[in-house]
This record gives sequence, C-alpha cells and structure tokens, in this order.
Amino acid sequence: MALESDDLKKLIHALEFASRKHKDQRRKDVDASPYINHPISLASILCNEAHVTDIDVICGALLHDTVEDTDTTEEELEKEFGKKICNIVMDVTDDALLSRPERKQAQIDHAAHASDEAKLVKLADKISNLRDVAINSPPTWSLERRQEYFDWAKQVIDQLRGVHPQLEGIFDEAYSRRP
Ligand code: NDP
Ligand code: ZN
Repeated sequence: MALESDDLKKLIHALEFASRKHKDQRRKDVDASPYINHPISLASILCNEAHVTDIDVICGALLHDTVEDTDTTEEELEKEFGKKICNIVMDVTDDALLSRPERKQAQIDHAAHASDEAKLVKLADKISNLRDVAINSPPTWSLERRQEYFDWAKQVIDQLRGVHPQLEGIFDEAYSRRP
C-alpha cells in the first residue's frame, strides 16, 4: 500500500525535527556516532524488521528521545505533531526529577501501563540499545555493567510482553547476545 502524502509529510517533519534537536549530540560508543542514528535505527527496526507501519508509532520512534535529551517540551511536541504522537513520546520519557536508580525502577514499574504504541517504541529502543551495548558499547563500561544493562532491559520488556510477538522475538534475539 502506498504511503499517503499526509503521512509522508509527517514522517519527514519528524525526521527533520529530531535531526535538528539532536544535532550537537553524540552516542556514547567509541566513535561518538551521530545521535540521530539511534532514533533512525528504532524506526528501521519497527518498519523494516517487524513490519510496523503505523505512522504515529514510526514518528514516535524518531522523536522518542527529544524530550528526555534535548530542550524539547511536551507542549512543543503536541503543537508540532498532535496529541497522539506527543503521548507516545511522553510515555517513553523518564521523569527527570527522579534519581538514576529510581528512573531504572520506574521503567520496570510503568512498562505494563504504557499504551500499545508506546510499548512498540520501548521494545525498539531496548533492541537498539542492546545491539549497541553488544557491539558498540560505551568504552568505559565494564563487563559487569554491560551485563547489568542487558538484565535490566529484559526486566522492562518482560512487563509488556504480548503486544507484538514478532518484535518481542527480535528483542529475545538481541538479548541472546548478552556479553
Ligand atoms: P546510562 O543511562 O548512563 O547509559 C545507558 C543509556 O545511554 C542507554 O539506555 C541509551 O539511552 C544511551 N546510550 C548512548 N549511547 C549508547 C551506546 N553506545 N550504547 C548503549 N547505550 C547508549 O547507563 P545505565 O543505563 O547503565 O544507567 C546507570 C545505571 O547503571 C545505574 O542505575 C547503576 O545501577 C548502573 N551502573 C553500573 C555500574 C557498573 O559498573 N556496574 C557503574 C555505574 C552505573 P537512550 O536510548 O535514552 O539514548
Ligand atoms: Zn533511545
């Protein structure tokens, strides 16, 4: 089925917005890859590996780290992209007022209560990050820290299973590379 032109416009808008917001950021791998590679990898996992073509989910994936990691606000996202995409992003955004260990626990506690669309984005985010930790890990991370990251990601994903078995299988394949 051909992409509707309104959906194509929304997709390019999300891509342009995310690339602009993340333009000065880098990932934590040894090559300091451009940050935008990560949101694009989520969209690719969803669309091309799991055949998720819901435009709001794909745009949510492209925008998923803009509130957590840039100056983007919830109001700005709602104005630019509407309530549905904004809600997906806010559902996968950590509460900045919590400490790091509290944020980690909150992800485990809240995963089951997210919308189905947000669960798909969360799955793709964890798949992308597990692949990075397996082959493009932050160079300072010890073996123990990489293992802890895998185990925590699995704890989060185990709370939301049933939403998309194929995507969960892709997560399990990524988890099987646990260092
Ligand atoms: P961070 O939150 O500091 O880093 C992980 C996040 O960084 C990912 O979720 C991802 O988030 C982003 N990221 C950017 N680049 C990469 C990359 N190349 N590979 C993987 N992730 C990348 O670390 P933790 O998630 O580990 O959180 C800290 C927790 O770690 C503490 O609560 C503590 O329990 C534990 N810890 C353990 C240590 C140990 O040695 N065992 C030492 C210090 C902390 P995004 O998708 O949002 O970009
Ligand atoms: Zn992310």
